[in-house]
Amino acid sequence: DAKNRGRAQAMMFSEEMHTRASSRLDLESQLARALDHNELRVYYQPIVDVSTEGVVGFEALVRWAHPIRGLISPLEFIPIAEQTGMIIPIGEWVLREALAQAQKWRTEIPGAAALSISVNFSVLQLQDPDFVAVVADALTRSGLAPTALHLEITESVMMNDIEAAAETLNALHALGVRLSLDDFGTGHASLGHLDRLPVQTIKIDRSFVGGLGGENPKAASIVQAIVNLARSLDLDVVAEGVETVEQLLDLRRIGARLAQGFLWSRPLPPQEIPQWLMRASGRAASQAPDAKRPQ
Ligand code: C2E
Ligand code: MG
Ligand code: MG
Ligand code: MG
Repeated sequence: DAKNRGRAQAMMFSEEMHTRASSRLDLESQLARALDHNELRVYYQPIVDVSTEGVVGFEALVRWAHPIRGLISPLEFIPIAEQTGMIIPIGEWVLREALAQAQKWRTEIPGAAALSISVNFSVLQLQDPDFVAVVADALTRSGLAPTALHLEITESVMMNDIEAAAETLNALHALGVRLSLDDFGTGHASLGHLDRLPVQTIKIDRSFVGGLGGENPKAASIVQAIVNLARSLDLDVVAEGVETVEQLLDLRRIGARLAQGFLWSRPLPPQEIPQWLMRASGRAASQAPDAKRPQ
């Protein structure tokens, strides 16, 4: 009868919840050891100039190479890392790894000397009293110019304590580090943040960029408005999640300067980057109008 069915359903539900909770507990305890076990990986996604499609830098994106489950997305384990405090050592590791990698490319790959490296960080790192010293130390050890480092922060995450966040961000800014507001447009206080924080770049969220390319005229208006806002505040703009040529053409028309997305590349393991750069510069050279003309 209905009562029994209900009971059976409730049981199944609680079993599923139990499985989910215990796999989360597993992940939590395994994540605590992932760093020591060398299971974290940093992948890199190129950021390109919208008008030339030349690469200007890379965004570092962490993955967890789980021995049984394979590559786990940061969307799954960063929230756990934030809740357990593991984000502090993980974030520091990603930063040091990405800086060392960027400096290696800049010195070893011809034409790569000006590439920037963008690293995501969490509000919990902002609240860590050692954070500025850690960034300064990581920069010194890597030998990378501070201006080559772009720290990306997700705006929604800063809202609790914007004054404290501003103080830390000002100290980072004083080091010469550049700051980007990530996922712009999805938080609640975007404009207030622009006013109060020493930010140089806005990253337009993929949810707006995905509507470009003719499917959604409102999306184009929103992206245009963000680009206009950035221009009037003298900020740089990166459009995230560009997947089609139509979206790229819309971005050109709108006047967004930078972009990243699967159209150019998914995030790649570092060993694939030198070859990707070589192919990309080959494409850029063959597209440039003056490439084959003698100077
Ligand atoms: P995010 O910083 O906004 O990074 C961009 C995300 O969009 C990446 O997902 C990237 O793979 C994805 N993406 C890029 N282009 C495209 C596209 O054309 N189409 C689609 N569908 N997706 C695209 P990913 O690597 O899964 O990272 C997710 C989020 O996890 C990041 O979003 C960031 O908030 C967070 N995250 C990643 N690495 C770190 C880290 O080292 N520290 C912290 N605190 N957060 C991180
Ligand atoms: Mg980011
Ligand atoms: Mg983003
Ligand atoms: Mg994000």
